[in-house]
This record gives sequence, C-alpha cells and structure tokens, in this order.
Amino acid sequence: MTMKKKILITGGCGFIGSNFIRYMLDKYPDYNIINIDKLTYAGKGENLKDKEGDSRYKFIHSDICEAPVVDKIVKGCDIIVHFAAESHVDRSILCSDAFVRTNVFGTHVLLEAAKRHNVSRYIQISTDECYGSIKKGSFTENSPILPNSPYSASKAAADLLARSYFVTHGLPVIITRSSNNFGPWQYPEKVIPLFITNLLEGKKVPLYGDGLNVRDWIFVLDNCAGIDLVMRNGKAGEVYNIGGGSEITNLELTRLILKKMGKGEESISYVSDRAGHDRRYSLNCAKIKKLGFRPKYDFKQALDLTIDWYKNNKPWWQKLKSKNV
Ligand code: NAD
Repeated sequence: MTMKKKILITGGCGFIGSNFIRYMLDKYPDYNIINIDKLTYAGKGENLKDKEGDSRYKFIHSDICEAPVVDKIVKGCDIIVHFAAESHVDRSILCSDAFVRTNVFGTHVLLEAAKRHNVSRYIQISTDECYGSIKKGSFTENSPILPNSPYSASKAAADLLARSYFVTHGLPVIITRSSNNFGPWQYPEKVIPLFITNLLEGKKVPLYGDGLNVRDWIFVLDNCAGIDLVMRNGKAGEVYNIGGGSEITNLELTRLILKKMGKGEESISYVSDRAGHDRRYSLNCAKIKKLGFRPKYDFKQALDLTIDWYKNNKPWWQKLKSKNV
C-alpha cells in the first residue's frame, strides 16, 4: 500500500487557500491535508464547511508564528504550501505591524520547521506585487524585487528568506508569484467582491484616482492549478510567475462589472488615490508555460461566475460586511 501524501496548508481558511484545499481534495483521493489558520478577520472556517466531514482533511486553529505548535504539525508532513498572510494593501498602509509579524516572522517559523523535518517541498505563495510597477513590457522571474507597499515589501522579505533557505540549507523551496486573483470566497474588501457586493447593496463603488492603473487578473482556480503544477513538476530553488493574461485598467474593470450588473457610470464614486499606488502589474509567464500551464478560464466568463456566486451567497458576505472589521 502506498503512503498517503500529507500536505500542510497554511492560511487555508482564506480566499485562495480554501479554494486550493477544495481543488486538491477533489482532484487527488490520496492526499491528506492539514490546514493551520489563525482565523483572522479574513479567515473563516465556514469557507470549507463542505469538507469538514472529509477524513482526509484536518483543521488546526493556530498562529503560524507559534513555533512549538508549528514544529509539531510540520513533523510528519511531506509538503508545505504557505498561503497564510496579511494580504490587504490598504490595511498595510494604515498599520503594517501584523504584516511584518505574519508575513516575515511567520514565514521564518515555517522555514525553520521545514528545515528541521526535511520536508520534500516547500511552496511559498507570493505575489507579482514584489516586482513593483512596470510601464511597458512584463516582469520575468529575474526582474528586480522592488516592492512599493508595506504589504508587498513584507511578501518580498519572505520570498528572500525562503530563497536563502534553499541556497544555504538546501531546503527544496519553490516560490510562486501570481497576479491578482478573483473568484468565490474572496473577502469583500478586495476590489472585485467589494464592487459586486456594493452594487448588490445599491451602493456606489469607490474607484481610486483616475482608474487607469492596470492589473492582470487570474481566476482563483487557474492559480490553484498553477500551484499544483509547480508543486509536482517545478524545480527546487526556482520562482514561477502565474498570470491570467487578462490585463485591464481598473476603470475598464469597473465598467465591465457595472454593465454586467445593469448599472451605469453614476454608480462610480471617484476617491483619492491609494498612497504609493502601483500603476501597472504585468507578468511574463513563459517559464510556467514551459511546464504546460495554460489558464483555463476566460476572464469575462469567470467574472460572470464570480458575480453569480456573490448573488447566491449573500449571507456569507453580508455578515462580513456588517462586522466592518
Ligand atoms: P486572505 O487574506 O483571504 O487569507 C489569508 C489567510 O491567512 C486567512 O485565512 C487568515 O486567517 C490566515 N492568517 C493570517 N495570519 C495568520 C497567522 N499568523 N497564522 C495563521 N493563519 C493566518 O488572503 P488570500 O487572498 O487568500 O492570499 C493568500 C496568499 O496568496 C497570501 O500569501 C497572498 O500574499 C498571496 N497572493 C494573493 C493574491 C490575491 O490576489 N488575493 C495574489 C497574489 C498572491
């Protein structure tokens, strides 16, 4: 009998982590998954309610900064996929303490445990925001790291620490840097779910500055497929960009959402720009394409699917919005 693979997921009650856990359990019958999550404002156990009874899934309510707890959990795990983070740029502008603690120190705690227990793969989930902003062309994995927000700086710091554990300790680290994700279960503070839910509530949508900032959007399940691919076929010590190939200005995105939801320009409220707002993100994804990666979801169809999900799951986001944390 072959041993079941044990994967530790951190931050699995958040947006991408919960989608990834569901994706993995549905795709691989022989994987066991342990999810460690602190359940901050952004993490909700109910995001994985449908998997609670699955004997292959175990949830541990804990903080990744708690070294003794993490050490015990990592012992016996084959693979770590590290999603847990403070993830909202606007919050990092207001106060970045938790960003440095979780994103940098928490990553260090995991790396130490991974090193001690010789895990066979350590996947650091990172972001295109580490590269900063680019006017023309696209970032490759060799582009300089020039983060502009406290959030992206804390993620870049974590990436550099992870890389150092590969170079110095031979830990089989792989880093993924994806573009902006969207889809079901995304906390309604992020632009796409914020705009959809505001419109469902009959409110306006707050658009930063001139709205001409460009983002490359990837449907969350395409990112999950990319992470899975890299986990199985990627090379230790490497970075892989994962983009959706759907660049669009925030204004175009807003107009698209408005149109799909039967609203007009009067629903836009222009607000002063975010401090240090990156103008454009763009990823060159040739490296992961060589592994066979192709985004499966068409951007506009995935947006329809996402709008439908928020229409059909009002109690989930209404509760989060009413708490206003
Ligand atoms: P999220 O904010 O929805 O979820 C983060 C999760 O981490 C939550 O469940 C939270 O409870 C948990 N968490 C936070 N601090 C913790 C701690 N100290 N210990 C244990 N758990 C903790 O974030 P997300 O959007 O799902 O992002 C997941 C990862 O992907 C992050 O590392 C983020 O930087 C990266 N990423 C996100 C995007 C995006 O567009 N959302 C794009 C690129 C990369």
